[in-house]
Amino acid sequence: MKLAIAVLGTGRMGSALARALLGAGHEVTVWNRTPAKTGPLAALGAVVAPSVAEAVAAGAVVIVNVSDYDATAALLREAGVARALDGKLVVELTSGTPQGAREAGGWAAAQGAAYLDGAIMATPDFIGTEAGTILFAGSGQAFEANKPVFLALGGNVQHVGEDAGLANALDSALLGLMWGALFGTLNAIAVCQAEGVALGMLGRLWQTLVPVIDGQVADLIKRNETGRLASDEQSFASVATHYHAFEHLLAVMQARKIDLGVILGQDNLFRRALAAGRGEDDFAALSRFMIKRD
Ligand code: NAP
Repeated sequence: MKLAIAVLGTGRMGSALARALLGAGHEVTVWNRTPAKTGPLAALGAVVAPSVAEAVAAGAVVIVNVSDYDATAALLREAGVARALDGKLVVELTSGTPQGAREAGGWAAAQGAAYLDGAIMATPDFIGTEAGTILFAGSGQAFEANKPVFLALGGNVQHVGEDAGLANALDSALLGLMWGALFGTLNAIAVCQAEGVALGMLGRLWQTLVPVIDGQVADLIKRNETGRLASDEQSFASVATHYHAFEHLLAVMQARKIDLGVILGQDNLFRRALAAGRGEDDFAALSRFMIKRD
């Protein structure tokens, strides 16, 4: 299936997307605010459109990858462009919020366009490879009908639901998980440096602990999925047990005057759970304290 595809935005990611589509033999028309960036794509066979309207007119599928949803809105909501979207598929691959995706999906539907909102869980070098993961939310019918196009962008493309906000929700959730690990690593580096532990040793020990931490993350998600928040015979550790060890971390950081910014939120969550009498619950019970209810 070879399609006419418009790609709006040829920055680092947009160029990778266009290259992968060209590589799969699609007819690709590109537009970029700064035209010079389209040169390498033209050399690979892309048609360079002089305006957004002309790019949109050339594609049955319109892929957008700019810096944010405000930039997308400024491009697509111009009257001539909006009218031209009728009957086309808009694929928003710009990063954004769930609310932004839902609003954009509603707007696209009002123009007569089908809408998919994607979250790219990869850097540009993974685009077009088997390991490239992109999550799509919105019209399942449009996803299935154009799946070969999306498979050209990455071997692991998935439709995660009809609600256009779901891909961005998963994107933020998974990035939050990643930043938890990265900020935790900054914390660990600071403790080692203050206590005279060689960072090479931290690196080696971390590798051996990966399976232990992986198991705990998987257990935490599973327990919340199934509502098993009380301690049971399979529990790894209670809230109180975790907090005893956590107090040692607090103590060393206070003694060494290490910035507590990364761990104070965790301390706050522990303290609220303990004050509410949840000390003997499984660690998973901390999730009860995450969502603020009015
Ligand atoms: P980038 O290299 O900085 O490119 C940004 C693109 O947006 C350029 O084409 C730029 O045009 C265009 N743009 C910005 N403001 C615009 C406006 N007001 N009107 C029209 N075009 C505008 O960034 P990138 O890394 O490709 O990222 C693009 C999107 O992909 C972002 O939403 C990002 O979060 C997402 N993403 C990126 C990665 C990654 O690893 N790079 C991974 C996942 C998701 P000019 O060339 O004229 O400046």
